[in-house]
Amino acid sequence: MYLKFWGTRGSIPVPGNKTLKYGGNTPCIEFRTDDNEIFIFDAGTGIRNLGKALLKENYNDKIKIFLSHYHWDHIQGIPFFQPLYEENNKIIFIGESNHEKGIENLLSGQMNDNYFPVNISQVKSTISFEKIETNKHYDYGNLKIQTLSANHSSPTLIFKITIKNKTFLYVPDNELFIENNNESPSISEIKKLNINFINFCKGCDYLIHDSFYEEPAVKSKKGWGHSGNVSLAYFSILAEVKNLILFHFNPDYDDDKIDDIVEGTRLIFSNENKNINCIAATEDLKIII
Ligand SMILES: [Zn+2]
Ligand SMILES: [Zn+2]
Repeated sequence: MYLKFWGTRGSIPVPGNKTLKYGGNTPCIEFRTDDNEIFIFDAGTGIRNLGKALLKENYNDKIKIFLSHYHWDHIQGIPFFQPLYEENNKIIFIGESNHEKGIENLLSGQMNDNYFPVNISQVKSTISFEKIETNKHYDYGNLKIQTLSANHSSPTLIFKITIKNKTFLYVPDNELFIENNNESPSISEIKKLNINFINFCKGCDYLIHDSFYEEPAVKSKKGWGHSGNVSLAYFSILAEVKNLILFHFNPDYDDDKIDDIVEGTRLIFSNENKNINCIAATEDLKIII
C-alpha cells in the first residue's frame, strides 16, 4: 500500500520555475491499498494528473474522494478529473456535513453554466455523496477513518486513517493554537492549548500537516486558519509523531524558502534530541507504507 502526493500547495496553484521541486498544484493525495482500492483525499488541481495516471492503468472503478472542506483549493480539480467522465466508474464524494448547502450543491456550484461547460449532472460516471461528521469513526473495508474538527475558517475535517496497524493523519488546513503575546511559541503553551489534538495524533506513523507559514510570520495572521513550522515541530514532539510531512505550502514561498523551513524544523528536532523524520511533501512523492 502507498500514499502518493499529487498536489501540495495551499490557496492557489503556482506553476513556474521557482516551485518545481515542491510543486504548484493544490492539495490532492492518493492512498492505494494492497487490494488496489483507491482513496483520494481532497480534489485540488493535483487530482487532474491523478485522473490521467489512472486512465493509463486497469484501475478499480469504485473511487472514494474525501473532502476535508470546500475551500476552492480543495475542490477546484474536480471538473478536470477524467474518471468522472468514464461510464462505468462509481465515484463517491465524502465530506463534512456541517454546511447549510449539501455536498452536491457545493460541488455543482463550481460546475454550473457560468463557470464550466459541463454540468455535474451530465457526467457519465455514477456519482454519489456521503456526509460524514466530526468526532466519529467510519469503516471502509480494512481502512478505518476517525474524524476531528480543524481550527479553520470554515468547518473542516481532520482525517485519521488506520490500516494494518499503520496510522497517518491528513490535516491540510489547521491553525494550531498559540498564545497571543509570546514572541515565539513555547512547547508548554502548545501542549496546554492543543492537548485534545495531541492525544488524537499520539504515536502516529505519518502526520501530513498544514505548514503554511514560517514562524514567526503566523503571528500577524492569527485566525487565518494556518500553522507555523515551529508550533508544528513542538506539536509533533508532544504527539510523538514518527514522520512529519510538511504540506499545504504558502503560494508565496518558493522552493528555496521551503528548503529553509524544512532545515529549520529539523534543527528543532535535533536540538531537542528527538528522532522525528521531517520532510516537505513534493508532487509525485510516493511513500510505501
Ligand atoms: Zn487550503
Ligand atoms: Zn481552507
